[in-house]
Amino acid sequence: MRIVLLGPPGAGKGTQAVKLAESLDVPQISTGDLFRHNIDAGTTLGLQAKQYLDAGDLVPASLTNALVDDRLNDADVAQGFILDGFPRSVEQAEALNAMLKRRGLKLDAVLEFRVPEDELVDRLKGRGRADDTEDVIRNRMKVYRDETAPLLDFYQGELHTVDAVGTLDEVFARALQAFDR
Ligand code: ADP
Repeated sequence: MRIVLLGPPGAGKGTQAVKLAESLDVPQISTGDLFRHNIDAGTTLGLQAKQYLDAGDLVPASLTNALVDDRLNDADVAQGFILDGFPRSVEQAEALNAMLKRRGLKLDAVLEFRVPEDELVDRLKGRGRADDTEDVIRNRMKVYRDETAPLLDFYQGELHTVDAVGTLDEVFARALQAFDR
């Protein structure tokens, strides 16, 4: 299964991505996690990406697309993947389509996790990651509205919307149901 997860910061994509990856036995590919690992390890990519994560801005497409393209070459991706946090713009979605096409692959599903905006801010403030300060959260929400939300149209027709308000298990059950339709 090759699945893309969409949703605003705080929608719980990361948590659901881990659960979906376990139950479908495919790797979770989180661009946010990959960037944070590179930052912690002090790699060149990490140094280049850090200012964007700190500000809540998108890391430039040149860095992000290459990161995903490389990851798709790893052996564990042969059975599929859960993409969490990529694509995040129409430009990235087009790049992903090209990466898949080159490999003769297609997506099986695109899931959107939907949560009302006021609940999102509360969830993020309770989380305490370095980029979870009020100003940066606000900017990440704006970036989601401006850059990422257009993907809901881009994937129209293959998009499954999941109500992401509820317990982790409730949301997970809804996400699984989305594949059965
Ligand atoms: P969240 O969705 O909760 O904001 P992520 O871990 O998915 O958290 O992303 C954190 C940050 O990593 C983003 O604000 C951005 O700076 C960077 N990032 C993650 N994925 C991408 C991407 N696909 N393109 C550009 N930047 C990204």
